[in-house]
Amino acid sequence: MDTAIVVFTRDLRLHDNPALHQACARARQVVPLFVSDPAIAAPARSPNRARFLAESLADLRSSLRERGGDLVIRHGDPAAEVIRLAAETGAHAAYIADDVSRYATARRRKLERECARHRIDLALTPGLTVVPPAGLKPAGGGHYRVFTPYWRAWRAATWRSPCPVPQVIAMPPIAETGRIPVAPGASPDLAPGGEQAGRQRFAAWRQRRLAGYHEDHDDLAGDATSRLSAYLRFGCLSPLEVAVATLDRPAGHEPGEEFGRQLAWRDFFYQVTAAFPDIARKNYRPGPAWHQDQGALDAWRAGQTGIPIVDAGLRQLAAEGFMHNRARMITASFLTRNLGIDWRHGYRHFAVLLADGDVACNAGNWQWVAGTGNNTRPNRVMNPLRQAHRFDRAGQYVRRYVPELAGLDPAYLQAPWKLPDARRERLGYPRPMVELS
Ligand SMILES: Cc1cc2nc3c(=O)[nH]c(=O)nc-3n(C[C@H](O)[C@H](O)[C@H](O)COP(=O)(O)OP(=O)(O)OC[C@H]3O[C@@H](n4cnc5c(N)ncnc54)[C@H](O)[C@@H]3O)c2cc1C
Repeated sequence: MDTAIVVFTRDLRLHDNPALHQACARARQVVPLFVSDPAIAAPARSPNRARFLAESLADLRSSLRERGGDLVIRHGDPAAEVIRLAAETGAHAAYIADDVSRYATARRRKLERECARHRIDLALTPGLTVVPPAGLKPAGGGHYRVFTPYWRAWRAATWRSPCPVPQVIAMPPIAETGRIPVAPGASPDLAPGGEQAGRQRFAAWRQRRLAGYHEDHDDLAGDATSRLSAYLRFGCLSPLEVAVATLDRPAGHEPGEEFGRQLAWRDFFYQVTAAFPDIARKNYRPGPAWHQDQGALDAWRAGQTGIPIVDAGLRQLAAEGFMHNRARMITASFLTRNLGIDWRHGYRHFAVLLADGDVACNAGNWQWVAGTGNNTRPNRVMNPLRQAHRFDRAGQYVRRYVPELAGLDPAYLQAPWKLPDARRERLGYPRPMVELS
């Protein structure tokens, strides 16, 4: 085979990239392509992901150039752009990582149709998860609805071996390689995108923090989690490589075990989404009747609920395009359980701001917290103040993100109604929206 196109989607890396590896192994020349599809890529819809994506593309392009290749960037419908580029370069094959969302499934179907019509071989490769979504099935068939049995099967499964990085990318001449989409405005403390930044972060975190992860990962102020989620979301890091580097096999109690569980949650929600593509729109299982309260929703979004731990989480999200997992659970529980507001509003707010915002993980977790998803205890409600007492006892997390409360005693942060009104007004901090005890 002479020339093959590699369609990068959210596998923006050279390391362990099965689509790139297979194309380089089978074709004499390879054309790396990224198509910015206006149907999903409007920067205004998520400035943080647009920025992270632009940086990841720039990094990928520079790594490809170092190996003699380049990244071709096109704007438009992915299937149409693949066919056009195949005509321009004489390519007879295309490689793309398989994905599970409703959008990705429609894209794949259209690519399959168009490639068949133009006699182009289309290969779907793994790489977005550790274990492919269709790779594990419960005994009775269908998909895993509960995490623990999935985790056991995931841990015992045979994984593929990570692919090597191609040393040379031989590319045919291309008249116009195209520009990386511009990404205006983003959260001030957003992490830098790209494979190099992701690999550096992972190496440093693994050395310093992995061993303590199972003890520290819920400590809000400690910020001890890996912060790899956006790199995994855009495939700057291979989830398989991360799993292999943290979990010694076979199963045991090595330091990476708890971290590996979190990676398995990601795979778990991908296989749920593959089976239930409406995950971001419809309840996975029946839920309650929700309240409409625009004022409460606006206050929640702005981090002005008067519940310090909730406001801290939402303000971290606005400042960094990231929120600690424990804070995501607390803020999501507050919106759905205390305010009774539909989880889809929270999902959409997170989807706008999170750099790691991803249909499967975002919707899967929102439904889990709201009690409409894959939760074995769907009626469990988190009390935000008890959560604050447990996971931010000294109030450092709140002080970091809610500066107007920085001078207060932790007792007020965990029992905000005790703060005298006059003092609250001087601080410019709202009265708690709901009574909690
Ligand atoms: C309401 C809500 C919404 C969420 N939305 C997203 C989202 O859009 N995208 C996203 O990647 N994660 C989401 N999560 C899961 C989790 O909060 C983040 O993955 C995690 O906080 C990222 O930080 P980290 O990389 O430091 O995680 P670590 O604790 O270091 O975990 C390592 C990796 O495991 C995966 N992971 C960890 N926890 C989960 C989980 N509960 N579900 C799925 N994967 C997990 C992530 O890829 C993460 O990077 C959400 C959780 C909640 C409660």
